Amino acid sequence: MTIEPTSSDAAVEQPDTPNEAPETTTEAPAAAAESGEATVQAEASEAEAPEAEAFTVETDEVNPESDQPAFEDLGLPEKITAALAERGIETPFPIQAATIPDALAGRDVLGRAQTGSGKTLAFGLPALARLAAGGRTKPKHPRAIILTPTRELAIQVADSLQIFGDAVGIEMKVVCGGTAFSRQIDALRAGVDMLVATPGRLRDLIRRGECSLDSVELAVLDEADQMADMGFLPEVEELFDQLPEGGQRMLFSATLENEIDVLVRKYLSEPVEHSVDPSAGAVTTMTHHLLLIGPRDKATMTAAVAGRPGLTMVFVRTQLAVDRIADELREAGVNAEGLHGGMSQQDRSKVLDRFKNGRLDALVCTDVAARGIHVDGVDMVLHVDPPKTHKDYLHRAGRTARAGQSGAVATLVLPHQNRSMFSLIERAGIEAKRHFVNDNFDAELAELLGARNFTDLRAARAEHQATQNEAEVQRMERQIERLREDVEGLKAEAVRLREQAERELVEGPSKRDRRDKGPRRDRDDRGGQRGGGRGGYGRGGQGGDRRGGGYRGSRDDRGERGGYRGGRDGDRQGYRGDREGGYRGRDDRGGYRGNRDGDRQGFRGNRDDRGGYRGNRDGDRQGYQGNRDDRGGRGGGFQGNRDRRDRWDGDRRDRDDRPRRSW
Ligand code: AMP
Repeated sequence: MTIEPTSSDAAVEQPDTPNEAPETTTEAPAAAAESGEATVQAEASEAEAPEAEAFTVETDEVNPESDQPAFEDLGLPEKITAALAERGIETPFPIQAATIPDALAGRDVLGRAQTGSGKTLAFGLPALARLAAGGRTKPKHPRAIILTPTRELAIQVADSLQIFGDAVGIEMKVVCGGTAFSRQIDALRAGVDMLVATPGRLRDLIRRGECSLDSVELAVLDEADQMADMGFLPEVEELFDQLPEGGQRMLFSATLENEIDVLVRKYLSEPVEHSVDPSAGAVTTMTHHLLLIGPRDKATMTAAVAGRPGLTMVFVRTQLAVDRIADELREAGVNAEGLHGGMSQQDRSKVLDRFKNGRLDALVCTDVAARGIHVDGVDMVLHVDPPKTHKDYLHRAGRTARAGQSGAVATLVLPHQNRSMFSLIERAGIEAKRHFVNDNFDAELAELLGARNFTDLRAARAEHQATQNEAEVQRMERQIERLREDVEGLKAEAVRLREQAERELVEGPSKRDRRDKGPRRDRDDRGGQRGGGRGGYGRGGQGGDRRGGGYRGSRDDRGERGGYRGGRDGDRQGYRGDREGGYRGRDDRGGYRGNRDGDRQGFRGNRDDRGGYRGNRDGDRQGYQGNRDDRGGRGGGFQGNRDRRDRWDGDRRDRDDRPRRSW
């Protein structure tokens, strides 16, 4: 059983532990820290702590400017380099160029790198290469594990590596809280080569006897400093203690201080350290801005920054603030949603997907929920609540200007926050431009926000909103057009059914008999009311009883293509009524196929998967063609309630045009 976080209504964001492991009692120090004001003094002592000197490792400072080799030169298997090339990933990032050869050589690796530096491939590709080189995975005994602090990061890591795992035939599975145990257990029983896991869930699976770490050849600890901040180190140690002797270990972290040092000493053997500068300040494509505002400007400024064209990640301190700011932004016309640890995993994933797919302008989140997340194209990070520490600042800032892109980091600073914010920025080692937000913005701020003063900002927002609304209007117009077409089709269908009803009334009980034999829909999964072999009164007629109850037309013994063909217009213009036509209730493939005037005539909602409504009324292949797009759903046709709903939902429709069922 998964226990949803007890912090759902808490004001302060909690780490993920309760989600991952019900038994976990560890109180996360980070949560405690987050609930109170961190003092400048505390930060200072943190900052003074030596970082890399605490342990002895071979250190190689990676020079991002130096010439990089190609992936082929690093010793990766060809299948992996081919998959990289297919994805357009051709030149290794510095951390990859530095780390991969050592990792492939079996060395323990200590990587100092932030998310965005490319470290996932730095540890993931050699890990896959190692597994692919040989060995057999037994059920419940993975051969490699990658531990990440959050579910989102676990999913992201697995997503990044999956394609390369597929290339070399390595089975991967994400194991994290907030999702059902059953599939994870099934996968483990079937045999998973590489697990990407959050510590709590992995520990649970081990305790249930569904997983053992005694065959793990290679273990990776990702975002180790975040693990420490979130209070996960006891669980990490519990897991690492179960690893067999002599295996390969890799540890990646944005900073290597304090507790990380302990982990390195305890679990890594003669590690080689590769380091890319962890300071976001060193990212030349990232600019930093302190927006010095008065209290009354906070909401306006938040909406202004979040509402400019582009993707913005908005950081606040608590879960309650996430919900509140997201609400306020929506009220201001900004397409924003919140992300925090109090939400169900499903909701978190959905929101993140929407943001990643560019369907939101802004994602409002807490530090805990957003750390380690990579979203392409985030061009602005906005601190609405200043971060607690310089490390938090760097982590938040690291969501933008990733993978060589440019980005800006803006912090709203109220008068009483000036001093602490300036010293925090200093500690983070970054140059930040100060902007006094008066009536008129300075040139740089104007460029950043795309407006010269507050009024201009409102104009820009109105313009942006107008553009969005225009797009929405166009979408709705297309939907209205499709519905109009439905109306025509339905009217025609109503007429046809009325006429059919008339005929049935005249023809009397034999009709009822026929109906009692029933449409084939109960027996034919492919679709609703199909009279006979090929449906309806028509072809089905030929099948008659043998073929499942189609009506065999009284006047045409040949029946073969006619069924009840005693229609009005002669030999080939019989009546292929409702059985074939009718609504094919259970037929995913679609609609409506009644022919009125002939073998190839009549309503033919769907002849095939491509769906929709294609009724012909007046002649061979003529008549109503509900679909502008023959391929179905989008083109409309009448597809019953569910599809109608789908069609109103532009996004859902776009994702799956196929009609799911008709009436
Ligand atoms: P990471 O730091 O592992 O989260 O990676 C950040 C982003 O950079 C991901 O979208 C990767 O797909 C991308 N990436 C990683 N390595 C490379 C590379 N060598 N060339 C281009 N993109 C890369």
